[in-house]
Amino acid sequence: MKVLVSDPLDPEAVERVRAAGHEVVEKSGLKGAELIAALDGVQGLMIRGATKVTAEVLRGAPSLKVVVRAGTGLDNVDRAAAKGCGVEVRNTPAANAVSVAELTIGMMLAFERHIVPATLDMRAGRWEKKKYMGRELAGRTLGLVGFGRIGRETALRARAFGMRVIACDPLIEHWPAGFEWVKRMELEEMLPVVDVLSLHVPLTDSTRNVIDAGALARMKADALLVNCARGGTVDEGALYEALKAGRLRGAALDVFSTEPPGALKLFELESVIATPHIGASTDAAQNRAGTEAADILIEVLERVGVGKA
Ligand code: NAD
Repeated sequence: MKVLVSDPLDPEAVERVRAAGHEVVEKSGLKGAELIAALDGVQGLMIRGATKVTAEVLRGAPSLKVVVRAGTGLDNVDRAAAKGCGVEVRNTPAANAVSVAELTIGMMLAFERHIVPATLDMRAGRWEKKKYMGRELAGRTLGLVGFGRIGRETALRARAFGMRVIACDPLIEHWPAGFEWVKRMELEEMLPVVDVLSLHVPLTDSTRNVIDAGALARMKADALLVNCARGGTVDEGALYEALKAGRLRGAALDVFSTEPPGALKLFELESVIATPHIGASTDAAQNRAGTEAADILIEVLERVGVGKA
């Protein structure tokens, strides 16, 4: 059967689909009418975050049975329209949890040990040994907002660094076994006690601007905010004001309410370090997401009865 891979995928993933007997076409950067044309006679579509699978695209692709997103977010797929068209939509939510957790810890270390400005100084030939007095993570309290896959992987790593970990997640009914050492709290009680607050929630109505001016005002002025989850969960204007006024010590951001964010005022502040949404950008995460996506696609095509040539 015919499969279109419309975002760059790990070669092993593409090979896996071919080895299952499907004809694979790889073509990235397609939009709207071009994408509809490329989907002619195609049963399976594999994407990452760039391809926009809109209602129009779905309606224009009558042979399509399944869309598999290698990775987590499904913001680029109109899931309601897919349901209406009988197209199954799947993703690989677990594939990048370790990579995002590692970046989260990396953000804390980079911020506390001034790795970014120290590198810039070294590059400019400056040996500023006295300027960069840092802080240990050990003994400090980490608060996690959201205790799903990435929150838990982050907790495990923070514990190894000797941090005390607390978490809030109102949607978890039974606290996961093996994580009894993570203290459960409400967000309100957690904010004033944490040294580092790290977000690990999806963007929903309940998490939009969950860290707003009010929440920032309740945090310690000495605290660090880390967001490797989703833009829109932190009010960027309020964050700028809090940092500028010295009501918060720092922020480490991988995600932004608009991406790319352009010349955000936040980037003018030395108390901010930032990366361009690279949480899942590791070989291991991309390989895992790609091969899991390939296996899901092969399984769905078999199940819907189009997998047998
Ligand atoms: P997950 O679904 O396993 O966990 C999310 C958790 O958030 C759930 O346990 C849920 O109950 C909880 N939650 C929902 N609303 C909440 C609220 N109002 N307050 C507190 N908790 C709440 O998801 P995950 O795999 O851990 O991913 C977490 C986030 O990381 C997602 O937004 C995801 O898009 C993002 N992410 C970022 C990158 C990156 O590149 N930076 C990569 C992958 C995922």
